[in-house]
Amino acid sequence: MSQGKVVKVSGPLVVASGMEDANMYDVVRVGEQGLIGEIIEMRGGNASVQVYEETAGIGPGVPVESTGAPLSVELGPGLIGTMYDGIQRPLEEMRKIAGPNITRGIKVPSIDREKKWQFMPKVKPGDEVEAGDIIGTVQETVLVEQRIMVPYGISGTVEAIESGEFTVEDVICKVRTADGELKELAMLQKWPVRKGRPYKEKLVPEMPLITGQRVIDTLFPIAKGGVAAVPGPFGSGKTVVQHQLAKWADAEIVVYIGCGERGNEMTDVLMEFPELKDPNTGESIMKRTVLIANTSDMPVAAREASIYTGITIAEYFRDMGYSVAIMADSTSRWAEALREMSGRLEEMPGEEGYPAYLASRLAQFYERAGRTVSLGKEGRLGALSAIGAVSPPGGDISEPVSQATLRIVKVFWCLDSQLAYKRHFPAINWLQSYSLYVDRLEEWYAENVNKEFPKLRAQTIHLLQEESELEEVVQLVGVDGLSPEDRLKLEIAKSIREDYLHQNAFHEVDTYSSLNKQYKLLKLILTFHKLAREAIAKGAPFAKLMTLPVRESIGRFKYVEEKSVDETFDSAMDEMARSISELTAKEAEDDD
Ligand code: ADP
Repeated sequence: MSQGKVVKVSGPLVVASGMEDANMYDVVRVGEQGLIGEIIEMRGGNASVQVYEETAGIGPGVPVESTGAPLSVELGPGLIGTMYDGIQRPLEEMRKIAGPNITRGIKVPSIDREKKWQFMPKVKPGDEVEAGDIIGTVQETVLVEQRIMVPYGISGTVEAIESGEFTVEDVICKVRTADGELKELAMLQKWPVRKGRPYKEKLVPEMPLITGQRVIDTLFPIAKGGVAAVPGPFGSGKTVVQHQLAKWADAEIVVYIGCGERGNEMTDVLMEFPELKDPNTGESIMKRTVLIANTSDMPVAAREASIYTGITIAEYFRDMGYSVAIMADSTSRWAEALREMSGRLEEMPGEEGYPAYLASRLAQFYERAGRTVSLGKEGRLGALSAIGAVSPPGGDISEPVSQATLRIVKVFWCLDSQLAYKRHFPAINWLQSYSLYVDRLEEWYAENVNKEFPKLRAQTIHLLQEESELEEVVQLVGVDGLSPEDRLKLEIAKSIREDYLHQNAFHEVDTYSSLNKQYKLLKLILTFHKLAREAIAKGAPFAKLMTLPVRESIGRFKYVEEKSVDETFDSAMDEMARSISELTAKEAEDDD
């Protein structure tokens, strides 16, 4: 263990000499209080340390001690429902000890050491086990079963296995390795945050992460194990989108990293999340959520760590065989922390002062997402989907963080302040957003929703694009200058926007649409288009077609409860066919 002395302090950055024996990314303790920091640069015997706590009062000569271990998270029962700061200190526990203003240098274990958990063994003495195999389970919350895995690097024969109530540090299993060593396993494990947890194989994503949000699932889907970014200016609905995903995405575990938004905003998250209900069970979503909160009043360096802390916890649940969604809000604040540290290290600045390694750091985060086969004999399928919010200053996505993110992610939900201003929510711009998973997921949608679905999706996108072209024509010649076919296209595009894409997160029914409902609503809108076009060709009057009562039924369809969707759809389809053909027949009669 290396012991040095502070030679320089610059905000959260402390330089210590005499650290020859320390390593990059070692955790160090600074001063009497033992402030936690991490070595981010080594030059000879000088170590640059980013300190995760306020450095006031630290000056030259103060002792710095390396712990010889990299920054790690603790993994085990007790994670779910806990709110942590960026270096996995439990906020609630710290508040109990130190009051509202977290004092420096407090040592609180990340995972409760006293609490006992009911451990159910899944192996017996004599069984051969290897890293990743599940040795037993703990029902951690009503929603989550924690699966205790053999740690990385261990394999052998089970000599003893316990059953009953244990703390996370109690020995619950003994494994004799091939070279005769006896390994004692507890439920508590550690993992260094900057290193991705190993898996056997990464698979291509081939199913969607269903969110119940029509504009996402239908137009710009994210795959399970996929990566998406939501940039958006203030007030454009980023928070609502993230909340909707946390609530509705078909992920068994959610890890939410609130990264240095203004202090009070994060407090909102801390208050709001426990209030959000898991729609399937009615339980608080905290029963399947781990929250990592870094407000801007916490030191900037802790933000940098929070993203790694979060993704490591997410990987751990992925390895158990769960679908996990991680949300980082916002990665811009994280990048700013990176920029600040880089500036203090006097590194050569890149674009807008961000370090040249900004893009590679962002990539390292998103690369840890994916659909994987876990270690172990069983090879469980798990998925880690990552969604990052970006908050470009002034909403201008030409800035470096947005641009670097866009080069990495496969889905881009572009929030548009114009749409938000018109109160079109979710304000996801349908012309600028994209999903590179669409082709790969087509087959899944065709098999699991309806074989027509990909075709309807393509028609929808096409109509929305035509609408924007036609609008330019309208500017020149007015609506009356358009052919009835083109006027019809404009009407249908409007229906797509208002009846389909617009979705009220606060409406009891509309807040979530099943894929079946999404398909049926789209089918109604596009069938109306087809029948109306044919009717117009036969001379039916445009204005009368547009005021048919069935259009009301289409408009109200999104508020139809799931259990009545099929029935309502069938009757609307009948009504549509009947009323349009009556109108056409009447017109033909009048002509005679
Ligand atoms: P941001 O986080 O980007 O600043 P918010 O997510 O707080 O913006 O959204 C701002 C406001 O927009 C919300 O308070 C809400 O009234 C409205 N809003 C956003 N999305 C929706 C939605 N899907 N349905 C209804 N209202 C929405």
